Amino acid sequence: MSTPAPTTSPVPTTVPIERGMRTIIGAFVAIPLLAVALAVPVAWGGWLSWVDITLAAVLYVIAAGGITIGYHRLFTHGSYKSPRLVRVLLGIAGGLAIQGSLDQWVADHRLHHARSDEDGDPHSPWRFGTTRRAVAKGLVYAHIGWLFDSNNTSVERYAPDIRADRDLDWMSRNFGWLVATSLLLPALLGGLITWSWWGALTAFFWAGLVRVALVHHVTWSINSLCHVFGKRPFTTRDNATNLAWLALPSLGESWHNLHHTEPTSARHGVLRGQFDLSAEMIRFMEKTRLAYDVRWPKPERLAAKLKDPEMRRRIPGWVEPTRP
Ligand SMILES: [Zn+2]
Ligand SMILES: [Zn+2]
Repeated sequence: MSTPAPTTSPVPTTVPIERGMRTIIGAFVAIPLLAVALAVPVAWGGWLSWVDITLAAVLYVIAAGGITIGYHRLFTHGSYKSPRLVRVLLGIAGGLAIQGSLDQWVADHRLHHARSDEDGDPHSPWRFGTTRRAVAKGLVYAHIGWLFDSNNTSVERYAPDIRADRDLDWMSRNFGWLVATSLLLPALLGGLITWSWWGALTAFFWAGLVRVALVHHVTWSINSLCHVFGKRPFTTRDNATNLAWLALPSLGESWHNLHHTEPTSARHGVLRGQFDLSAEMIRFMEKTRLAYDVRWPKPERLAAKLKDPEMRRRIPGWVEPTRP
């Protein structure tokens, strides 16, 4: 983490949630999910065009990328630095995912790393115990239930750097505008491209609601599935896992076992064959000078943290030390 909070801080780790907030969160969780439930009959009815699919795909990558390379790797963990305009654009892109304001997202996620799978972790699937039943309940809590907790992580304690940054603070306070943009922009584009109200409506459904639901559940699967199912090749003090099948939709975030080993690494898919689209985007940004001071993983450090020494051969750039 870029700004670990002191354990003796007088500021509490959580603060009570604002009144009425749970209802709002509930609506923003349930409505996109309802759209997914209706997706098959709507598509079957022929109310799905290539314009809808293209807009949904583009907005998916923008919003999910805003979360992975913006909210997560840049703002939460400081895996790299970027010029002001790029930071603002990444903050806006992440806001389009409708996963809460930037400052709250960062605070929640830093607390998750500080207390991972222990008491105080805002979304550990292990919070109710280790029996099959307890983990099933925990998975639902880690995926969605935690959003309705009566307490929020304290932004004052866990994201003071976001509060202190004028642009990021403004974006956090005006999150509502990003929510509106995320839902209305697809309708506007769909309407303009097809020059019809019908086109605006189907684009709102697919590139607005369905796309938001997909980004939601892929991100939340990192909190739930990636602490229970999958492989744990690296040593961590929690149960974080690598879940290969989720790597493509999560843009590389499901290499979560490595992420908990090296939280500041800009690359999460560090072994050969582990595709990490977010890391590729950061590398492209580095080449085009949109990112600098990138923290790329060091082969020796990775090797030292692998449980099975044989797996060192899968680290790109690893050279076996020659014996004297
Ligand atoms: Zn985690
Ligand atoms: Zn993280």
